[in-house]
Amino acid sequence: MKITDVKTYAVKGRKYPPSPWVFIEVETDEGITGLGESHPSKGIVEAIHAMKGMLIGEDPFNVEKLYEWMCRQDDPSSAISGIEIALWDIIGKSLGVPIYKLLGGRCRDKIRVYCDGFFRGASYNPEEYMAKAKAAVAQGFTALKFDVDEPLPSTKELGRAISLSELHLTVELVAAVREAVGSEIDLAIDAHGKFDITTALALGEKLAPYDLLWFEDPVPQKNLAAMAKVAENTRIPICTGELLQSRFEFRELFEKQAAEIIMPDITFTGGILEMKKIAAMADTYFILVAPHNMLGPVATMASVHLCTCIPNFLVLEFQLGDVPYRDELIDKAVPIENGYLKIPEEPGLGISLNKKAVAKYLLENY
Ligand code: MG
Repeated sequence: MKITDVKTYAVKGRKYPPSPWVFIEVETDEGITGLGESHPSKGIVEAIHAMKGMLIGEDPFNVEKLYEWMCRQDDPSSAISGIEIALWDIIGKSLGVPIYKLLGGRCRDKIRVYCDGFFRGASYNPEEYMAKAKAAVAQGFTALKFDVDEPLPSTKELGRAISLSELHLTVELVAAVREAVGSEIDLAIDAHGKFDITTALALGEKLAPYDLLWFEDPVPQKNLAAMAKVAENTRIPICTGELLQSRFEFRELFEKQAAEIIMPDITFTGGILEMKKIAAMADTYFILVAPHNMLGPVATMASVHLCTCIPNFLVLEFQLGDVPYRDELIDKAVPIENGYLKIPEEPGLGISLNKKAVAKYLLENY
């Protein structure tokens, strides 16, 4: 089998403007087409098209070799990721098996997700956060995450410290959400790397009584020694890694023991096999994997295959309040039910694009 073309479809996604969903199709001479999704960034579509020359004529089964080639010619990691996912879709379809069966098979029978974004639209007061959290739990979610930096005016400034009143508000909101959902629902918080070490440690101490699943990016990911210092001195597990690319950047995180949980993104860090390798490295440090997943339905389904076949999976991100046409873009709706995603049994990824819907939401000049 040979690759004959690579096509892209930039579609209005949840964060558009400015960020579209970038879907990729890799075509072959046997009529099998593979589907992938890339993390959007400026120039990503041009970058993917520029990679065509190297891919056309190659056998899509040679994932390792093609991945290495793309990395060594310094192609953007998000472009590589989307193409890599599409190669696995081709292989699965060609062999008539779902992708997870090619990568070790099932470690579990359904994929637990946590609900991100349940708080959107709420004013920054305990009552509204409580009501939103209760509504998410009523939909069947057993884990929730919310942004603790968002309500704090200081995080809109350049400094990384917060005032004491902001510290108290953060504790108040976390306490309120914990009270609203009870003691059995998992709660994680994300700070998007907005704090300094002192603030991170102070929050870690104040929030310790609320049994949080993790404290995400308490300090920026650019300094893993600083992250390690927070992890070492905080009882709440630290989670990080959505901005790290490939096993080489994760290697440093593992060696520094900078987190107890990592969150690589399948559309950004290198695709399905690279994620599998990162998860295996993490497992040797007893670090758990909670993949970052905030893009379109193709990224979600690729993540499901990965989460199915890694032993140290914790929970997968799932966006509440996505665009209303998310499921219209694919031939089968994202199979979410009571806080879990079903594992597809169809060959490959298990979904394909609905071209009519894609045309409707296509960004022509992107
Ligand atoms: Mg995050």
